[in-house]
Amino acid sequence: MSEARLSNLIENAPLDAYTTFGVKQYAHFLIEVNNLPELYVAVEFARDNHLEVMVLGSGSNVLFVRDFPGLIIIVRLTGIVQESPTRLRIGAGEDWHNLVKWTLANNLFGLENLALIPGTVGAAPIQNIGAYGVEIERFVKRVHVFDTHLAKNLDFERDACDFAYRDSLFKRAPRGRYIVLEVELELSDSDAPVLTYPALAERFDADEQVTAEQVYHAVCDIRRSKLPDPKVVGNAGSFFKNPVISAEKFLKISEKNEDVPAFPLENGDFYKLSAAWLLDKAGWKGRKRGLAGVFDHHALVLVNHGGATGEDIFLLAQEMSSSVLHKFGIALQPEVLIV
Ligand SMILES: Cc1cc2nc3c(=O)[nH]c(=O)nc-3n(C[C@H](O)[C@H](O)[C@H](O)COP(=O)(O)OP(=O)(O)OC[C@H]3O[C@@H](n4cnc5c(N)ncnc54)[C@H](O)[C@@H]3O)c2cc1C
Repeated sequence: MSEARLSNLIENAPLDAYTTFGVKQYAHFLIEVNNLPELYVAVEFARDNHLEVMVLGSGSNVLFVRDFPGLIIIVRLTGIVQESPTRLRIGAGEDWHNLVKWTLANNLFGLENLALIPGTVGAAPIQNIGAYGVEIERFVKRVHVFDTHLAKNLDFERDACDFAYRDSLFKRAPRGRYIVLEVELELSDSDAPVLTYPALAERFDADEQVTAEQVYHAVCDIRRSKLPDPKVVGNAGSFFKNPVISAEKFLKISEKNEDVPAFPLENGDFYKLSAAWLLDKAGWKGRKRGLAGVFDHHALVLVNHGGATGEDIFLLAQEMSSSVLHKFGIALQPEVLIV
C-alpha cells in the first residue's frame, strides 16, 4: 500500500467542521479522498486495521452523539459529464445546489424544486432527497457504488435502489457498505415546472406561464425565509420525518384539530402528517435546553446555539418526540442519521 496516498489521513479528527450541526465529537481516523485510487487505499486501510467505515459528504444530515471509533471517508470525487443531451453522470463529491444551478444554465430541467438543499450529489440518493413536491428518485437513472463488502464496483438501476420517502436501499444497508461514486440523472429538455406543493403554487397566478427559472428563485426565497443557514447556526434541516398514520388515527386527530396539514396516501388508507405542525402544537418552536434549541421559525429544525454537544441535541430531540407521542399518540422518527 502506498503511504503517499494515505498522506491525507488524520488521526483523532475533530468532526465539528465536517458536519453542519458543528458538534465537537472526534473520529479515530478521517480521510478526504479525491479519486478512486485514494478511495480504494482508504478502504484497504480500514480493512487491514479492522476499522468500521463511514462515508460523509457535507455532513448536513448527521448528528454525532459520541466519538466515532472507525474511519470516516469524505468523498470528494468531482465532475459532471453529459452522456447524452439529457443524461448526466455526476461525481459524488459535487455540491448539490451547484449542480441544480448548472442544469438550469444548460437548459436541463427538473431539479429546480430541489434548489438550495445542502450537501453532495453522492448523498442525494441515500435518503432520496425531496422538497416542494419533488424527490430525486424521479430523475435517477442509476447509481454507481463501491461495495466495500464485495470489494468491487456495482451499478444500481433506479428500481434496484428501492427508493421511498426519505429512504433507499443504501440508507438501510449496513453503514459503510456502499460508497456512492457517481450518480446518473435523466433530466428533461422541456421546461414544465411542478407546482403541486401549496407554498409554491401560492406564489404564482393560476393562469401564469411559469418557468423553471422562476420556480428555482421562488424555492430559494422560501427556503431562505424559513430555514436557518448552517453557516450561521448549526442545524441539519428537518430533524424528524413526516409521520405516516392510518386513516382511522387521522380522523381522530382531525376531529379535534381541523387545521392539521395532511396528505392522503394509498387511496386515503394512510395520511402523511406535518411533523412541524405536531411539534408546533406541542409548543416547541423557539424553545431551548441549554445550548441546544428549536429554531424560532420552524419547530422541526433543531439548532446548536454554540457549544452544544451531540448528546444535548439528541436529548432535546427525544424530549420533543416524547411530547408528540404523549399529546397525539404518534411516534416521530428521525430523518437525521444519529451516530
Ligand atoms: C438547512 C438544511 C435544509 C435541508 N433541507 C432538506 C430538504 O429540503 N430535503 C432533504 O431531503 N434534505 C434536506 N436536508 C438534509 C441534507 O441536506 C440532505 O440529506 C443531503 O442529501 C445530505 O448531504 P450531505 O452530503 O451533507 O450528506 P451527509 O450528511 O454527509 O451524509 C448523509 C448520509 O449519506 C451518507 N453518504 C454521504 N455521502 C455518501 C456517499 N458518497 N456514499 C455513500 N453514502 C454517503 C452518509 O453516510 C449518511 O448516511 C437539509 C439539511 C439542512 C442543513
